[in-house]
Amino acid sequence: MEVITKRPKGTQDVKPSEVCKWHTVEKITAETAACFGFKEIRFPTFENTALFKRSVGDATDVVQKEMYSVSAKSPANGKDPDDFTLRPEGTAGAARAVIENGLLNEAMPQKVFYNISCFRHEKPQAGRLREFHQFGAEMYGSASPAADADMIIMVKTLLERLGISDIELNINSIGCPVCRAEYHKALKAYFEARKDELCGTCLERLEKNPMRILDCKSPICQDIAKDAPVIIDYLCDECKEHFEKLKKLLDLMKIEYTVNPKIVRGLDYYTKTVFEFVSTHIGAQGTICGGGRYDGLLEQLGAEPTPALGFAMGLERLIMTMEAQGCEFMQDEKCSLYIAAMDEAAMEKAVVMTKALRDEGYWAEYDLAGRGLKAQMKYANKIGAEFVIVLGGNELESGMAKLKNMATGEQTDISLGDKFVDVFANIHTANMFAEA
Ligand code: ATP
Ligand code: MG
Repeated sequence: MEVITKRPKGTQDVKPSEVCKWHTVEKITAETAACFGFKEIRFPTFENTALFKRSVGDATDVVQKEMYSVSAKSPANGKDPDDFTLRPEGTAGAARAVIENGLLNEAMPQKVFYNISCFRHEKPQAGRLREFHQFGAEMYGSASPAADADMIIMVKTLLERLGISDIELNINSIGCPVCRAEYHKALKAYFEARKDELCGTCLERLEKNPMRILDCKSPICQDIAKDAPVIIDYLCDECKEHFEKLKKLLDLMKIEYTVNPKIVRGLDYYTKTVFEFVSTHIGAQGTICGGGRYDGLLEQLGAEPTPALGFAMGLERLIMTMEAQGCEFMQDEKCSLYIAAMDEAAMEKAVVMTKALRDEGYWAEYDLAGRGLKAQMKYANKIGAEFVIVLGGNELESGMAKLKNMATGEQTDISLGDKFVDVFANIHTANMFAEA
């Protein structure tokens, strides 16, 4: 029985009473993205596995350990089964969609954002889920450090608009293939010397991509990596200049940051700038947002060489931070009017009035459960109705009723005739201002 009554490990339900938190974040992310000229893009929840292997990188934890790959049970036409993977992140799918739909032929830079679910087979813990959500943004076609600064400022603006403070920005440069070749040599030599102590995965990484060892979660490998050479000491002139210009722009914008030479990011496609926004309010999984430049990715996926950059923000961690900091969320809609009915004739009148109110955009309710007046009033209270009207024989006969303000107890006579909705609207608006 447990399998059908318990959600899968590492997933979350959002109760209707909590959904306003998600609406807040979705609205403000979309509004902020729009101010920076980003348009929403949507792409499939699953892609060909090869796309993630190629872009995220064969040697990464995400590809090696965390992907949910699926194939159809019966391949069409007796061909090999398709090999699909639920997206572990958004950059690969967004880049694939941008290329496939010819968006790189439009005005450049091309700027897109998305709010998506992602899937990674990780050990579930606070702030680490198997299905989680990301707000991400990607910019294609600008090699300028001003674009890097713009992305960082967009995240900063978003966090401010959500009311989040105390977020640390860490930046680093992980160079380009030119400077990284030199760095890899130095790194390889360093780890070769302590080869016997590395974990099995890192031994493989030593051959394939020694930089990934810096990202290993094993405490022993982390300890060894502590004194490893850092990429920032190996940057070529172009990468160095790019990084200096970015820092200058951030200084000009008065954006505080720390240069953290240890940030390498967990995905292979990054070049030059990488950055992370870290919250100190939500425990060990404090990285809310990670991003950077990936100038080689589009070419790697078959497009013309196109510089690109982006970031992704974990929405669960973002909401956790907002909760921890007491940030405000958008309020749920309230029921404007509950029409309680004492008999069948009153019920028919309530149906007609409710429809007229709903047509004007109000949340209006009447009894759908065949309850007596007392139970109807109890329900009106439970759903937090702002106003209540009770309809019975007297009201139908006189065409007048009492409109009760549930917060103040104040009662107003109201005509049930043609003008009812207009008059109700005026009283409702006046009450909103009085409350504010
Ligand atoms: P971490 O080091 O925490 O594993 P990451 O480097 O794997 O993060 P990215 O791939 O850069 O993360 O994803 C961007 C953001 O998405 C992270 O900063 C985090 O906020 C969020 N995120 C990543 N993995 C998870 C997860 N399993 N559960 C919840 N949020 C996640
Ligand atoms: Mg991770």
